[in-house]
Amino acid sequence: MKKLLIHIRSWVKVISLVIIASIIVMAGVAFIYKPTYSVTLNGELIGYTKDKSTLQSRINDYIDNGDGVNIAFVQVDNLPEYSLCLLKKNIETNDEEIFNKVADSGTAYYRYYAILDDDEEKLYVATFEEAEKAVEGLKEKNSKNKDDITIQEKYEIEPKDVVTSEEVISKLYEKAETKKTKTVTSKSGGVFIAASGVNTGKKVSLGISLIRPVSGTVTSRFGTRWGSTHKGIDIGAQKGTPVKAAAGGTVVLSSYGYNGGYGNYVIISHGNGVQTVYGHCTSLNVSVGQKVSQGQIVATVGSTGRSTGNHLHFEIRVNGVAQNPQNYLY
Ligand SMILES: [Zn+2]
Repeated sequence: MKKLLIHIRSWVKVISLVIIASIIVMAGVAFIYKPTYSVTLNGELIGYTKDKSTLQSRINDYIDNGDGVNIAFVQVDNLPEYSLCLLKKNIETNDEEIFNKVADSGTAYYRYYAILDDDEEKLYVATFEEAEKAVEGLKEKNSKNKDDITIQEKYEIEPKDVVTSEEVISKLYEKAETKKTKTVTSKSGGVFIAASGVNTGKKVSLGISLIRPVSGTVTSRFGTRWGSTHKGIDIGAQKGTPVKAAAGGTVVLSSYGYNGGYGNYVIISHGNGVQTVYGHCTSLNVSVGQKVSQGQIVATVGSTGRSTGNHLHFEIRVNGVAQNPQNYLY
C-alpha cells in the first residue's frame, strides 16, 4: 500500500513537471516569435499578418474616413477574419496586400461639392474651401447670379469630374445688366433667398447676442449628411406658437408661399451681414422694411413649405453663409 502511494506521488511529480515545462516553453515561444494570424475574407485565405490590431485599425480607419482626399467613407460587406497559426514558421506576411484586398472589396463613396445655380447642379469641386472660393469670387465680380449660387455636399459611388474654383467663376459668371438692387417682397409671390454657403467649420463672431425665437427641442440639427444640406436647425413647437425675433433689426423679407421649401418665412437683418431666418410659419406678423426689437413676435409656428410637421426652421447667416445656430443658441 505504501509502495503504491509513493508510486502515485512520483507520477504526479513527473506530470506536474512536464506541464510546467511546456508552459515555460510555450511562453518562451510566444515571447520570442510574435504570433502569426492567417487572414480570410469571405471564407477565402488572403494572407498572413503578425500585427492584426494595427492592420485592423488601418482597415477600420479607411472604412470610416476613406482616403482623406475624395473618398469620404467605404462600405464593406464583410470584415476579414483572423485565426492564430501556431505551428507554421517562416510565413511571409503581406499586410499591404491584405489591406488592398479588403479596400477593393468595399464600395467607396466619393465626397465632392456641387455648385448650384438656382437649385440646379452646374459644376463640381473637390473641397468645401474650393467651393467657398468660387462663391466668393462670383460675389466679388458682382455676378448677376451671385445670390442664387449655393453649395451642396454630395456623396456618390461614381467619382465626378471636378473643376477648380477659377473654372467655376469663369463658367458661371454672368454680367449684371444694370446696377439693380435686390428686390425684396412683402406678402405673396415672394423671392426665395437661399443661403449661398454653409459654414460647417468653426464659429464666427456675430457681434450681437441672440435669444431663442421659440422654446422647444431641436428636432433636426444643422449640417450636411448623405447629400442633403440642412442650413438651419428645426425646433419642434405647436402650431401658432409665437416666433420671436432673435435680435433687433430690420425685416428684409416677409413672404407667403412655398418659397423653395421655406414656406411662409421671414428674414431679419441685424447689420454687419448677420441675418436670421424663420421658416415654415403659419402667419407672418411683420412686413419688409419694418424695424423689430429683440423678442418681438414676427410670426407664428406652422408647417408651410417643405415640412412634415409643425416646427420652426431657424437659420443664422453671416454674409449669406449659413452658420450653425447651435453654436449660439439651444
Ligand atoms: Zn429645417
